This record gives sequence, C-alpha cells and structure tokens, in this order.
Amino acid sequence: MKKHNFNAGPCVLPKEAIESAIAAIRDFDNTGIGILEISHRTPGWERIMAETEQLWRDLLNIPDDYAILFLGGGASTQFFEVPANLLKTKAAYLQTGVWAKKAIKEAKFYGDVEVVASSEDKNYTYIPKGYKIPTDVDYFHITTNNTIYGTEIHEDMDSPVTLVADMSSDIMSRPVDVKKYGLIYGGAQKNVGPAGVTFVIVRKDLLGKVDRKLQTMVDYRTHIGDEPRNNSMFNTPPVFSIFVMHETLKWVKELGGVEEMYKRNKKKAELLYNEIDRNSMFVGTAVKEDRSLMNVCFVMAPGHEALESEFMNFAKEKGMVGIKGHRSVGGFRASIYNACPLESVEALVACMQEFEKNHK
Ligand SMILES: *Cc1c(COP(=O)(O)O)cnc(C)c1O
Repeated sequence: MKKHNFNAGPCVLPKEAIESAIAAIRDFDNTGIGILEISHRTPGWERIMAETEQLWRDLLNIPDDYAILFLGGGASTQFFEVPANLLKTKAAYLQTGVWAKKAIKEAKFYGDVEVVASSEDKNYTYIPKGYKIPTDVDYFHITTNNTIYGTEIHEDMDSPVTLVADMSSDIMSRPVDVKKYGLIYGGAQKNVGPAGVTFVIVRKDLLGKVDRKLQTMVDYRTHIGDEPRNNSMFNTPPVFSIFVMHETLKWVKELGGVEEMYKRNKKKAELLYNEIDRNSMFVGTAVKEDRSLMNVCFVMAPGHEALESEFMNFAKEKGMVGIKGHRSVGGFRASIYNACPLESVEALVACMQEFEKNHK
C-alpha cells in the first residue's frame, strides 16, 4: 500500500533527490567511486559545495555580504553558537515553544536574556503580539515556525536590532526577505534535506564583535572561506547530507523556486485546515491566524476524545505515517513540508471524512 509520510523530521524528501542519492552512492560524478568514499577535497565535490551555496543564494536572494555555512551539530548547537558569536551583554528572545526555550537556556551562558513575551500560558497555541522589541540588546531571537505546536510567524518582521531566526522547519517554504535578518539558522532535516547538516546564513559584518575568546570551531569566521564560494571546508563537512540537500534544492528550483513552494504549501494547508474546521470529529489546536503552513496540529473534538486511538489505527490502515502529535500537545500532527505531495494531504482528508461518516 502507498504510504503517506507526515513525519515531523526527518521527513519526506523529493523522490528525485532520493534517486540521485542512490545513484551517487554507487558512482559519484562518473568517478567510479561512490559519494560516501570520496575525499571532500576532490574537484567534483568542491563543485557540489559551490553549487549548493549558489542554490541557496538564488532561491532566497541572499546578498553577497552574507555567508552561508553548512555545519554539523544540528540547530541545537546553534542555540549556543549564536550567542557565543553575537551576544555581548544582553539579548532578547520571543518564547513561542520548547525550541525557543532551549535557545534561551543556552544564551544565558553568555549574558543577560530578556524574554520579551511568551505564549507558555496557553501551551504555545499562539504567537504573542503587541510586545516591544528592546533597543538595548545585541539581537532579538525568534523561532519562525513552531514545529511541535503548529504555529508560525508568517511575515518578516521589522526589528530595531539585529534579528536572529531559527527557521529549522519553514526555511524554503516561502519567500524570505533575508536582508531583514542578521542571522538565520536551522537543521536541514525538516525542509531542505536529511539530518546531519545545519545551515547558518549570517551577515558578515556582525562577526568578531564579542570580547570573549571563541573556540576555533565555534567561531563562524573559521568556516568562512577566502573565496566567496569555498565556505564550510575548514573541516570535513557532512558530505552526504549536503549532497542530498543539493539535490533537494535543485528540485525546488526546477519547480519554480520558493514562490511556487509557497503557493503549493498554502493550498495543502488550506485543504487540511478546512477539513479540520468542517469535520465534527476534530478541532485544531493553534489559533487560526497563527496556524502553521508546515505542521498542522489537531485533536479529537470535545465529546470524541475516546476515539483518538481508533482514528490513529484507522489512519494507519489507510497508509498514513507519522501523524501522532508531539507528547506535549497530544492528538495529531501532520507535517506537510515542501516535499509532501498534495495527494498525501488529499488522502488524509479523505480518511478523516470516512472516519466521520463511520461514526455518524
Ligand atoms: C527540529 C527543530 C530544532 C532542533 O533541531 P536539531 O537539528 O535536532 O538540533 C530546533 N528548532 C526547531 C524550530 C526545530 O523544528
């Protein structure tokens, strides 16, 4: 039976990227040697690194005064590398979920942290509004998409101080005005590739301003090459993960770039949220205006709570994979990233409709 993959991350990737990855494991770039067995100093690989960076620049219009780094350690490592490199005395954070909370915890190792607003009071079901970004801080940190709770900041905000964003789970899902941000980071495994590579997009003039001594690997400047396109080669980069990211971004570009992704993502999300709102068996958990286009969270409607595991089994029998909600929200979460086809969302909607009919 066809499986519909709604995993939150690692998650569904474009079939085309998987096929090229399989071929490259057998033979990379007609060398007769597989990609897992080549040196990262071979010209064929250096070309892939340069092309990957160029794809990022083209897709998101990233200006030349920004470096793009591909590092290890996941977004969780950036929770401390960001303050290590940017926090002089004080930083401000918007607390919209546990990822934000974890970032706050790490920043406190380096200086004062002001949490300007938090939605913890309502289990992070909304994005706080009406707060003021302080001007006496080195940067303001936001999480643009809250993977666990299904809330999203839909617009690039104006900030009087350097704006830093964890975009792990919505990067490349919509056009982003990179110039409004000083630094954008995230793990690749939600929307741009497999686990194992972390992207950091940073405006270079922000670096080298802190007084503290930084370990070589922690200092972003270590990973910025002399040539504009030889970044992230100080040590061995996560070669295979970057290769699959390269293939994933090529797929995004061939389909029409982030504008086309945004169009498709809005269509998929609308279809699923409409069904949640229409169907008497389910309710959404996030407030409507802050609903994420990437992670759709819903629970059984009041009175139907006892049917949760029944629906889970029913959906599983129909080929739905990965729709169990995070333990801190419960219910269901369908992650419908770029590579999730409309057809999968249609299958989930049909499954919800059939379940309702069976219980009428
Ligand atoms: C998944 C996720 C993380 C953690 O990423 P790792 O690469 O596993 O460290 C951080 N922030 C957000 C928003 C995420 O979705």
